Amino acid sequence: MSTMPTEGRATADAGLRERAVRVIPGGMYGHLDAAPLPQKFPQFFSRGEGCRVWDADGNELIDFMCSWGPILLGHKHPEVEAAAARQAAAGDVLNGPTKDMVELAELLVDQVTHADWAMFAKNGTDATSLGVLIARAATGHRRVLVARGSYHGIADWSARVGAPGMTPESHLNTVFFEYNDLASVEAAVAQAGADDVAAIVLTPIRHDVYRDLEPAQTEFAHGVRAICDRIGAALLLDDIRCGLRLDLRGSWEVHGVRPDLSAWSKSLANGHALAALLGADALREGARSVIATGSFWFASAPMAAALATIDALKAMDGIELMRVSGERFQEGLARSAQSHGLSVTVSGPPQMPFLSFEGDSDFSRASVWAGECAQRGVYLHPFHNWFLNTAHDTAAIDEALERVDGAFGAIRERYGTD
Ligand code: PMP
Repeated sequence: MSTMPTEGRATADAGLRERAVRVIPGGMYGHLDAAPLPQKFPQFFSRGEGCRVWDADGNELIDFMCSWGPILLGHKHPEVEAAAARQAAAGDVLNGPTKDMVELAELLVDQVTHADWAMFAKNGTDATSLGVLIARAATGHRRVLVARGSYHGIADWSARVGAPGMTPESHLNTVFFEYNDLASVEAAVAQAGADDVAAIVLTPIRHDVYRDLEPAQTEFAHGVRAICDRIGAALLLDDIRCGLRLDLRGSWEVHGVRPDLSAWSKSLANGHALAALLGADALREGARSVIATGSFWFASAPMAAALATIDALKAMDGIELMRVSGERFQEGLARSAQSHGLSVTVSGPPQMPFLSFEGDSDFSRASVWAGECAQRGVYLHPFHNWFLNTAHDTAAIDEALERVDGAFGAIRERYGTD
């Protein structure tokens, strides 16, 4: 079992944090910033393999964040790395794409039921913002409807209202509604003007930070689809977090609802930088008309990696593997908490689990628990959903559960039983 460094000890991580703060604002930023997490979490890492990562001090952790989604088949998947390395050796950033761009577009159009075309970019924000741009170009409408609390990236239209650097104009064309509440979508349409809505943007499930995960209600998904059809707006499904983990065909296929546009990134190339916007024929001309590009958007190695990722995922029936392992993890967590007399809620699809403590409204107990998990060699998060990858086999899950059991024990010691 790993023994994590304790606070105050001279470690490589502490040394790097100290140096970083001098040359990087805050020492780190963005979603991988360890500052909101207990000190027991490392900030800097040295390597990853399969379902494990090693921090800068060489401590090994079973990884349930998977780089916050991108790692789908385990770190350093041999076939994916070989495909990427082969293309990188031949040339990555060229004067145009390789044939892999066409093959990847064909594969995605074939696989994702609503899609007739594909465009590629780098990050999730690129894909969701490109979707909004195309929806506006195609409809001639301005407004975008977004569920309050949903995350779609750091562009002005989607970033947090009032966050530093935002202006009152940043969200001029963004109107909010409540997830799974059709009446609130209707109210947002009325507020925006029914003839001025370019897109309604939704994640396939409600996976906002600081709350238990919540599936989309089927009637809600159908209702939003019907509203989009009625007012001539595009339905943009943000499959960036769920894509390739829940359903190869697109994450709302389970509801029988097909979006006009879907945004993908994270797991698409098992850690290589790639995003995709997929669209239906009705949006093709809009997509042709917009100005959309980036220096690295057409890099070939990530596209080779994506082809290898999707091939491998299908060959091993990876979604089912993650579902089975995730279910074992979720059941084990609930059992372990109960055995310590602790009341918890385990939520989320098994491939993207989450756990919260009853009555822990500020997630402080979850935070202490996650820190205890990190110290025992399990990397998961107190207020953001976790991720499984296909390398989480039964042995790894059971080993993680054993380590986590100690963390529940530490919580019982500190707070008592419920
Ligand atoms: N949409 C969703 C649902 C996401 O989870 C994320 C990233 N967490 C994004 C968009 C933005 O992706 P990126 O960070 O790659 O820009």
